[in-house]
Amino acid sequence: MTDRATEVPVEGMIGASEEILVVGGGIAGITAALEAAEAGARVYLVEKNAHLGGRVAQLARYFPKLCPPNCGLEINFQRLRDNPDIRFFTMSEVEQVEGGRGRYRVKIRRQPRYVNDRCTSCGECVPVCPVERPDPFDYGMSTTKAISLSHEMAFPMKHAIDGATCLFEECGKCVAACPYDAIDLRAQPETIELEVGAIIVATGWQPYDARAITNLAFEHHPDVITNVMFERMLADNGPTQGRLLRPSDGSPVDSVAFVQCAGSRDRLHLAYCSGICCLASLKEAQLLLERNPQAQAHIFYIDLRTPGTYEAYAAKVLAQPNIRAVKGKVADILPDADGDRLVVVADDMVGGAMSRTSVDLVVLATGMVPSRDGEGVAGALGRDADGFLAEGGDGSGIFAAGCARAPVDVATAALDGTAAAMRALNTVRRAVAST
Ligand SMILES: Cc1cc2nc3c(=O)[nH]c(=O)nc-3n(C[C@H](O)[C@H](O)[C@H](O)COP(=O)(O)OP(=O)(O)OC[C@H]3O[C@@H](n4cnc5c(N)ncnc54)[C@H](O)[C@@H]3O)c2cc1C
Repeated sequence: MTDRATEVPVEGMIGASEEILVVGGGIAGITAALEAAEAGARVYLVEKNAHLGGRVAQLARYFPKLCPPNCGLEINFQRLRDNPDIRFFTMSEVEQVEGGRGRYRVKIRRQPRYVNDRCTSCGECVPVCPVERPDPFDYGMSTTKAISLSHEMAFPMKHAIDGATCLFEECGKCVAACPYDAIDLRAQPETIELEVGAIIVATGWQPYDARAITNLAFEHHPDVITNVMFERMLADNGPTQGRLLRPSDGSPVDSVAFVQCAGSRDRLHLAYCSGICCLASLKEAQLLLERNPQAQAHIFYIDLRTPGTYEAYAAKVLAQPNIRAVKGKVADILPDADGDRLVVVADDMVGGAMSRTSVDLVVLATGMVPSRDGEGVAGALGRDADGFLAEGGDGSGIFAAGCARAPVDVATAALDGTAAAMRALNTVRRAVAST
């Protein structure tokens, strides 16, 4: 991003545009794009990654119904396939925004995928690729090749080459292996210019960096992981194909401590509550018991926050005998005497003493931080004290939706996307009507 959105009219700009730009192809952005297009607008959807779906695609299952994420996403991908009024650009980011409400001119920078539409995702290119790199889809818990498909239900169903690690012409083995002539290692970045009347920013969230929480041993013990990593471990398409194995030695996981508010509601880290982590840990404890009915889950919390209709879900999970909830803040995580297991030291506020619990694995329930990518397009909105974008509605014709605006669950992110779509439609129609 190089430029901030302004209200200044652009020289040479054509008239008001009825088209809408959505930045971010997670559940909020996809929903916004679909709702706006199904109500009659032409929509551009811009996603920086090679595939759409955002962080929902990385979840094992999602509460409260525990559906696999690909169920919900696939319905939306089908709506995208069916809708000629949505054009989407993957591996793309907004580079420049000029203009004002009703008449923005936007430059999109699209990085080369090096794989064209002839790709059938047959996968012949993958085994011949000599480059192994940490897989960002598995939060680095596994490796993938320089040419890859992020997961088996990825959309678009086309491989992509990671330009940062590919050996290009020095290697070229994927080009020779591809039966469809679908790989072009000489592809170049492109700049695409669009004129749109309104912009929806749905750039989502990132996990809080657990390395910053120095008393919780994340950097010192491989069996201390974060909630997003545990989601991948629980996922059938994750690094262990859903088997619960300790990262340190591959032995089975029979007990897990969930440390709530890891860095959250703490002025040294995140002052706010993400509102999701308690539900995520309850879901993960439930999935742990599904995988291993003998396992023990210990949830260390300050307050269990499961608002509204989620209260009933939380009560059902907590009623299971193998799930123990301890009201108390975790002070320390240490290796036990023989260095094999981990001891969680917590202030048990009900029992009135420090408790020590030995477990195989510790899961830090880290919070959700607003994505900081895309500052240029978001600039007009401003951020709150926690870094989330203001909703919009200030007359700029730019609106925020989903976790870019606040840490929310999938249902709320989708509703938020719909609301932003309606506001954006209103903006472009008024702008066109007034010319
Ligand atoms: C551990 C954990 C478990 C969870 N489990 C559940 C659950 O079971 N049920 C539930 O309802 N919710 C759950 N959630 C919350 C859920 O992940 C969010 O509600 C959801 O991801 C919000 O979607 P979004 O589209 O707002 O953001 P995201 O999913 O973050 O999508 C944003 C998209 O924007 C893209 N992007 C970012 N910056 C740019 C840019 N500059 N240009 C272009 N594209 C960009 C990203 O690549 C991404 O694709 C969980 C959260 C956590 C932390």
